[in-house]
Amino acid sequence: MADINWMDEAVKRKDQLIKDLQGLLKIKSICDEEHASDEAPLGPGVKAALQYMLDLGSKDGFTAKNAGNLAGHLEMGAGKEILGILGHVDVVPEGDGWSVDPYSGIVKDGKIYARGSSDDKGPTMAAYYGMKIVKELGLPLNKKVRLIVGTDEESDWRCMDYYFKHEEMPAIGFSPDADFPIIYAEKGIADFDIIQAPQTTAGNEAAKADVLSFQSGRRYNMVPDFAQASLCIHGEQTEFLQKFHDFQKETGLNGQDYVDNGELVLKLEGVSAHAAEPDNGKSAGLYLAKFLAQFDLDASARKFIGILNQFYGKSRGEYFGIQYQDEISGDLTINAGIMSYHREKGGRIGLSMRYPVTFDLEAGKTKMESKLKDDGLLLQNFSDSKPHHVDKNDPLIKTLQKVYEEQTGEKAELLAIGGGTYARALDKGVAFGALFPGREDVMHQKDEYMYVEDLLKASALYAQAIYELARN
Ligand SMILES: [Zn+2]
Repeated sequence: MADINWMDEAVKRKDQLIKDLQGLLKIKSICDEEHASDEAPLGPGVKAALQYMLDLGSKDGFTAKNAGNLAGHLEMGAGKEILGILGHVDVVPEGDGWSVDPYSGIVKDGKIYARGSSDDKGPTMAAYYGMKIVKELGLPLNKKVRLIVGTDEESDWRCMDYYFKHEEMPAIGFSPDADFPIIYAEKGIADFDIIQAPQTTAGNEAAKADVLSFQSGRRYNMVPDFAQASLCIHGEQTEFLQKFHDFQKETGLNGQDYVDNGELVLKLEGVSAHAAEPDNGKSAGLYLAKFLAQFDLDASARKFIGILNQFYGKSRGEYFGIQYQDEISGDLTINAGIMSYHREKGGRIGLSMRYPVTFDLEAGKTKMESKLKDDGLLLQNFSDSKPHHVDKNDPLIKTLQKVYEEQTGEKAELLAIGGGTYARALDKGVAFGALFPGREDVMHQKDEYMYVEDLLKASALYAQAIYELARN
């Protein structure tokens, strides 16, 4: 079996690969529960995409299995253990501003364009072709190889919940739904709310400004790029507005102010970023809180704004006193993704904490609860997705590194991230591709594309990886 030229094998199949991928890209597979049925619990689009993959695999001689119309797999080989490969065929809505039809799969300048081309239909098809190459070369395998296809990655992962409730967990696996070379560690993700109860007693009468409402952000996993507050200013408004304008100049952020129904409305634009590294953004909400914190506010608002202000420029858990880092996965981070306050209803701050692999979550949670208790606040809606990590000396990692380095000639650096990938659905799995280092990340964006060359390179990498991991 020596001297297989994996890239040649991929290139030989290029036309068919593009054709098969275009067929998949043409299916508008957005989660659509309004049109759900028993046969299509997440709507007809994602079901059609799943069926497309199962039909394609059956036609090519793989064993196809549908799992509750939410997921499925294509299988080859035999053996006690399973090598699992996890991809997904659901996509996020295409949004506006495309220069091509988002569901055409048109090839232009060496790129194939469509929603899902890089996340994750292209990489999933590349993994499929990896399997197909191994199968067509008739290489001997000592494991079953399963391409597991999910349909709910972009929403609630109900596909994986169902699949692994009913199907065996692979011994090892990888997911082509992120970056090359290899993501071997993912921080834990704990989302929760801090709740401030409405004030029952009257506020301080002498306050210079009452905050009637404050709103910023809708999602735990994003740094908010917009914030708005409604105020009632007692006394001189000109000076207040002058300070707001100065603040915009100092920070370089754009704002707006106007009076509506006797209320002064302030708006501020920030810079969005993923919650995995809040410091990459400029939180509109935290900046607006920073601005407001300098004034004499009513007691209830003073408390809410005061807490927000303690997150300004402090994304490492300083407020709770739970700063932590480890060598595997770096710093603990906290993003304030949702900030909502209303004078009569109280306040809510939605936080997303990304905690290192070796962090003691229970001890951390106890510390957070006691801090909140001290500050007269509550912790609610706590949800947790455990950290995910495969030892860097594990044969799975070593094999993938060898394959990547042999084929690309580049060092297979091990990456640790604060986000979660599909790999965490596996007991022992890593993310492996298909975005190559140096390539622009266009996932979830308009004019999403994948280089045809990268599709072929990924197919070649997956083919060899599958063979090397499943031959023993
Ligand atoms: Zn994805």
